[in-house]
Amino acid sequence: HGSNLADKLGYRIFLVGGIVRDLILNINNYDIDLVIEGDGLEFARELNEILNGEINTYDQFKTASIVTKDGIKIDIATARREFYEFPAALPQVEQSSIKFDLYRRDFTINTLAISLNRDTFGILLDFFGGEKDIIDRKIKILYNLSFIEDPIRIFRAVRFKHRLGFKIDDNTWELARNAVKSDVMHEISFQRIKEELYIIFDEVNTVDILNDLKKLGILKEIFPEISSWDKVFSMIAQCKKGIEWYKSISKTSEKLNNRFLYSIIFCYLSESDEDLYKKFGLSKNQREIIRFIRIKGREIIGKVTQDDIKPFELFSLLKDIPDEGLIFLTILSKKKRQMKNRVKQFITELRSIRIYITGKDLEELGVKPGPLYKEIINKIYREKINGKIKTRE
Ligand code: ATP
Repeated sequence: HGSNLADKLGYRIFLVGGIVRDLILNINNYDIDLVIEGDGLEFARELNEILNGEINTYDQFKTASIVTKDGIKIDIATARREFYEFPAALPQVEQSSIKFDLYRRDFTINTLAISLNRDTFGILLDFFGGEKDIIDRKIKILYNLSFIEDPIRIFRAVRFKHRLGFKIDDNTWELARNAVKSDVMHEISFQRIKEELYIIFDEVNTVDILNDLKKLGILKEIFPEISSWDKVFSMIAQCKKGIEWYKSISKTSEKLNNRFLYSIIFCYLSESDEDLYKKFGLSKNQREIIRFIRIKGREIIGKVTQDDIKPFELFSLLKDIPDEGLIFLTILSKKKRQMKNRVKQFITELRSIRIYITGKDLEELGVKPGPLYKEIINKIYREKINGKIKTRE
């Protein structure tokens, strides 16, 4: 459809970026990136008339994205040449040709394009040696000022390195180091850094990626509050295992907020957590949970891992802590197996226990309404959780 439509409108159309890279690497990638030489917004709207999907347009950037009824994501951009008004600013966009569009990209491996017009269908455009770099497994920037223009590319370089098992070209690595030394990290908003970090947290090789960012001097620039990165790395590695463990024991794994869990690690290990609360944009409730864990965490772990703890006591200690906090406590604990067993008991058994007796039942038994009701109900609850009450009678 895209080819026919582009031909009809008289535009050139190209498949670009990550999907072309991944085609060559034989890696599945279902995010379709298209660049149109022409009016990308008009093209996107007409394409969506045919596909009947959901469309979002971003007029300022002359881009659009469509999600088809089958859930395939198509990003459509107008071939553009970008001007950065000052380093690390958001780019200004102007309509231009495919070569300029590809030149503004981050690495040579992402600069390949495949023509999709019918007369040139399938022809690979390789202006910057991207195919060779993919084959040589090298990450290279396109021009020396690239990292100064957009320092977020340093994060991306390291992320691609570990995701694809590539090497960062020596010159590119040096330029990254120099960019960091020239203080460019402070030019980017923490919002952008945070988004990049969240992607990194979801990668398989999070610790390797962070370790490279540390070597480049980036971590101490963006997190001066943290002094022991070894502790952070060790906790992140344990956290990944903790998430897998949690998924294996809880039937409802969908609601776990991994980002919050990783933020807890950073805040817990920082010297001034107030700054980090702001950086991570944590809600009031999330801040309170972290403060609570800081003050009470070790004490709770101590009690929970006692040999003779009663189920109701376990329930009372853990009931107000969200699952992210519970996973964190298992990481923090020295008696990990014991702690995990207890948290598992709480999640899978204790917290779903309900009692079915009501005020009406008590009234029928002749108890006069009043504070005694609450006391009785609490006691029944305690005894039920402790396993002493087995039947309604
Ligand atoms: P993935 O989606 O698997 O992380 P991708 O290569 O598709 O990988 P995206 O983040 O979706 O990456 O970006 C799409 C394309 O936009 C990339 O191929 C890249 O060339 C370009 N790009 C993204 N961010 C930047 C940036 N900061 N500077 C230059 N080009 C970028």
